[in-house]
Parts: sequence; structure tokens; C-alpha cells
Amino acid sequence: MAAGEPQADCLFCKIVAGDVPATIVHETKDVVAFQDINPQAPTHILVVPRAHYANAGELGTEAPELAGALLAEAAAVAVGEGCSDSGYRIVFNTGAGAGQTVFHVHAHVLGGRGLNWPPG
Ligand code: 5GP
Ligand code: ZN
Repeated sequence: MAAGEPQADCLFCKIVAGDVPATIVHETKDVVAFQDINPQAPTHILVVPRAHYANAGELGTEAPELAGALLAEAAAVAVGEGCSDSGYRIVFNTGAGAGQTVFHVHAHVLGGRGLNWPPG
């Protein structure tokens, strides 16, 4: 399996391909941002690369420019949602023990309410 290649059994590859519906808020040639189906905050948007990488570490190692594009999109989403000034959080759950359930890297952009630290 080559890094970045679509995976047939991957939910977010299917969303990127348009085979599974999602509420897309913004997209570029490299990344797609869509509403989380089970929002944990007033703003809860997932930002994914179109290419398949399992997690943030793999993305940063294999495709650092794409990792930068993902972060830039996450920041742009926060501006678009109006939570840039009040503060927001970008989360990459990595590994099942940290709550990762979809193994196609995704940034959670969370905002629109107070966010406790440290997170659970
Ligand atoms: P993880 O737990 O891997 O960090 O995050 C996966 C996220 O994907 C969860 O927040 C979950 O609510 C979201 N999710 C799971 N299935 C779907 C789906 O079919 N559509 C959308 N838009 N989000 C989903
Ligand atoms: Zn995928």
C-alpha cells in the first residue's frame, strides 16, 4: 500500500470521493472540511487531506507540505466560523487509546464555547 493512496474501506476516503454524504463547509485541491456528525461543541469541523494517511504523525513524516495545508485550512475554518478571536482547539486523536476511531488523519476544529484544559 503506497502512502497517500485511497483505501477502499476508509470512511473519510469515501466522504472525499463523494460516496458518503457530508456537510462540506470548504474544500481546496488538497483538503476537505466538513461538519462532524456528532458535534462536541458549537463549532466542530473535521479537516482531512484528500490523500489517505493514517494519522498526524504519518502525514507529517510522509507529506509535510500537506500537513501544513491541513493546518492552514483548520485555521481558515476557525476564522470562517467566527471563533478565531475567542479561541479554538485543533485536535488530532492518534491511536485507539487516545480516541481515534477513523484511521484517516483528521483535524478536529472545536470552538464556540469554553474549552477546558487539560482535556479528558
Ligand atoms: P476520531 O474519534 O477518530 O478522532 O474522530 C472521528 C470523528 O468522526 C468523530 O468525531 C465522529 O463523530 C466523526 N464521524 C464518524 N462517522 C462520521 C460520518 O459518517 N460523517 C461525519 N461527518 N463524521 C463522522
Ligand atoms: Zn482514507
